[in-house]
Parts: sequence; structure tokens; C-alpha cells
Amino acid sequence: MISRKVITNLAHDVGFDLVGVVRAEHIAEEHNRFKEWLLAGNSSTLSYLERNVEKRFDVSLLVEGSRSVVVCAVSYLSPYSRGYTEGATAKIASYALNRDYHITIKSMLEQLALALKSYAPELRHRSFVDSAPIAEKSYARRAGLGWIGRQSLLVNPTFGSMMHLGELVIDVDIDEYDTPMEGIGCGSCRRCVEACPNGAILENRTIDTRRCISCRTIEREDANSDVPLHGWIFGCDVCQSVCPFNQHAPLHRNQQFDPIITPEMVGAESLETMSEEEFKALAKDTPMLRAGFERIRANARKN
Ligand code: SF4
Ligand code: SF4
Repeated sequence: MISRKVITNLAHDVGFDLVGVVRAEHIAEEHNRFKEWLLAGNSSTLSYLERNVEKRFDVSLLVEGSRSVVVCAVSYLSPYSRGYTEGATAKIASYALNRDYHITIKSMLEQLALALKSYAPELRHRSFVDSAPIAEKSYARRAGLGWIGRQSLLVNPTFGSMMHLGELVIDVDIDEYDTPMEGIGCGSCRRCVEACPNGAILENRTIDTRRCISCRTIEREDANSDVPLHGWIFGCDVCQSVCPFNQHAPLHRNQQFDPIITPEMVGAESLETMSEEEFKALAKDTPMLRAGFERIRANARKN
């Protein structure tokens, strides 16, 4: 058994802004809603979303012997997250100007696990960041980190939605588990729905990935889609930058999430003149590298 208080202190020590804990169990309500979303065809070309659905919503199937899920969040909100001026081209989602969060968060989670082992030496763990088959937003909501906004992302009243999530699944019980946040939410606000340039936000707080710029600029398999990109070349921040919670949120505190490139460095004109090697040297530590030079340049040419 580990104390909730110890987990909070250690998570803050390694650089997370928020932490919550839930039991490693099936989350049926979210599971059913996801199945309906898949049946409606909204996953489009993102076929990986259709794999391991049972495990995604029941972490005990994913990690044998698991007892608890420690859900952590850290803000990456920077001045670039506040949006671009009208008519800007070669826009990049602000998280992609930073070091690849998969690497940074994984390292933070492993540091947290190591620290926890000094309190429970027998503890076994697995850490997950985004790409693994775990319904992290749903577990985060259950762990009291925020609510699911109309744009389908987790929103926290203090830190907004520009946060990365990471989970540590452990085989140890915790003395006190969290419950979902109550009494706050989107209310009557619909700014993200109204601001989405492609009308991709559905009424049931999910996204039509066929029309979402974030998906269409990053996923390789649909590079020829004719969905308008509205100046974005990698990702899209529109539904988040208009959110009042992001406008009032503090900038990120963890220096590991300081931007390492600027949008100007990979502007449309620069992309036309730079070589693939130069692009790789520039973007090598950022999430943009995974999309690849040709894809990013093709996106820029569509704008
Ligand atoms: S990321 Fe952009 S395109 Fe996708 S839902 Fe948000 S505003 Fe719409
Ligand atoms: S913009 Fe408004 S509706 Fe959308 S997530 Fe933020 S608070 Fe909710």
C-alpha cells in the first residue's frame, strides 16, 4: 500500500503539474461510448484505434496483476499555444515545437516509478504515453484531473487542455483513490465547436477524424485527402487556443516543455528551399520528424 500523498509529492518532484489515482478496472461507460463512435465510422483511416479496444478500457487486461493507475499531467502551454494571426500559413500545433513529449513523459514516469520503489520495493510497473493502447483521457477524468471538453480533450480548470498525459500502472494498492471532478465543465460555452474551421467537432464530444486537420496533417495514410488545412502544416490548435480555460491558464512551468524551434524556422518558403537533411537536423527532436519531410512539405503546398 502506498499513500496518495506520497504519490502527489513525488509526481510534483519529477515535474508533473497534476496527478490522480484510480483503481485498475474496466471503465464500462466510456467503453460503450467509444464503441458507438467506432461504429459510426468516425475513426476514418486511424485503424489502430480499432485494435485492442477491450484492453484500452480495462487496464487490468493490459497489465496482469495491476491494481492502480497513477494518471499524471503536465502543461506545455507556451505563447505559441495562444493561436496565430489571421492569414498565417505554415502553422504548427504548439506541442510540436517542443521536444517529443513521448520521450520526455516516459522518462518522467520512469523517474516516478523509481522513486515509488523506495516506498514499496516490491512494486512492479508499466508506463504509458499516448501511443499505447490505454484510454488515457477517460482514466484521467475518472482520476479527477478534469472533464472531457466539447473538443474531446481533457480540460482542467487551472491548466486548461494544453497538457500531456502519462500513466503509471502499478500492482500496488493506494490508500485513497480519486473521484471525477464535479461542479465545473464547459457549461454553455461552445467556442471550440464554433471555431473549428472544418466542423469536425461532433455533438457527443468526439471528433470526426475525417475532417480534423490535426489528424489529416499527421497521419501518413491519407496524404491525398482534400480536406482544407487552413494554413496548418502539422497538427491544429484552433479548438484549444479559443478555449477560455487555455486563455486564462498559466504558461508551462516545466522547462522540458520549452519550445526548441519556432514556426518561422519551418515556414512554407523555408520548406521549399531546404533539403530533407536540413529538415531532419531542424526537427530531429520534435514530433514533426515522425510525419517526415515529404508529408510536411505536401501539407505546406496545400495551403
Ligand atoms: S484540431 Fe482543428 S480541425 Fe481538429 S477538431 Fe480541433 S479545431 Fe477542428
Ligand atoms: S472552448 Fe468552451 S466548450 Fe470547448 S472545451 Fe473549452 S470550455 Fe469547453
